[in-house]
Amino acid sequence: MNKPISIAIHGGAGTILRTQMSAQLKRAILSDLQRAVQAGYALLQEGADALDAVVAAVKVMEDSPHFNAGKGSVLTNNEMVEMDASLMHGRDLQAGAVAGVRHIKNPIELARDVLRNSPHVLLIGEGAEKFAFEQGHVYTEQDYFFTDRRYEQLLSMREKGLFALSEAKYPDDKKHGTVGAVALDAQGNLAAATSTGGVTNKKYGRVGDSALIGCGTVAENGVVAVSTTGVGEFFIRKRVAEDVAARMRYLKEDVHTACEHIIQGELKNMGGEGGLIALDAHGEIHFAINSSGMYRASIDVAGNLSVKIYADE
Ligand code: ASP
Repeated sequence: MNKPISIAIHGGAGTILRTQMSAQLKRAILSDLQRAVQAGYALLQEGADALDAVVAAVKVMEDSPHFNAGKGSVLTNNEMVEMDASLMHGRDLQAGAVAGVRHIKNPIELARDVLRNSPHVLLIGEGAEKFAFEQGHVYTEQDYFFTDRRYEQLLSMREKGLFALSEAKYPDDKKHGTVGAVALDAQGNLAAATSTGGVTNKKYGRVGDSALIGCGTVAENGVVAVSTTGVGEFFIRKRVAEDVAARMRYLKEDVHTACEHIIQGELKNMGGEGGLIALDAHGEIHFAINSSGMYRASIDVAGNLSVKIYADE
């Protein structure tokens, strides 16, 4: 019998307004999500490592302007793009992460280089970029990442002194557009990856949960792989990804119970809005969302494709 493989991805959770979503925008988002999940799944079918599958899926979303990662990242208070990314391999708990990078087209590939080619786990800012260029990444101008929509968002939020997801003009303005993927490969390895531009109008080198192993990203073979999205400050304080893993590891909860306990219970009670994707050692997938939607897609162990936007779908 073939060994099970499966993959799930997200393109951010938050408030997504049905009434403002045009048919054209919806089609474009669904199509990007489908391309992303299929890119990862195609590698898993070839017998590739789960880590390469999650990187392939995340890269498709980093290259799309529809998500807050890579191209289309939100802007900082001083009109820059500063991106965070992390990933983890469940076999040997190896991890790689970068924070505050400004000129790297695909931060998730850089995080994989940190994992594979450095003795460290997390590199930040200029140092991370120096390492990137040594690894052959190309210097990418800020102009590449910039979109009019993110500029408009920043102007209105900066003017009002707001932060993160406070303004809504586009149907998914109040949505965290961070992207992530979790996968189980045919060798039984779990991996997770997360990539983001962070939150609009962030200042002072702010770093969110997406760069932090145990908060935004976790993978441990035999247990679970998790990638989160939401206001990072809450996810860091709650150590969301590791909390899900700990419930499964020590309390022997199943993936659905553990995720719901955190996202609908403890995190929500703290005021934390958002969601996560999780995948257990058997390839069972769970999407947890405590806001009105989360861009998401999956291909389960039976090969069924699912692509969704709203929480009530
Ligand atoms: N979690 C991300 C951060 O706080 C934001 C997001 O999910 O869009 O940086």
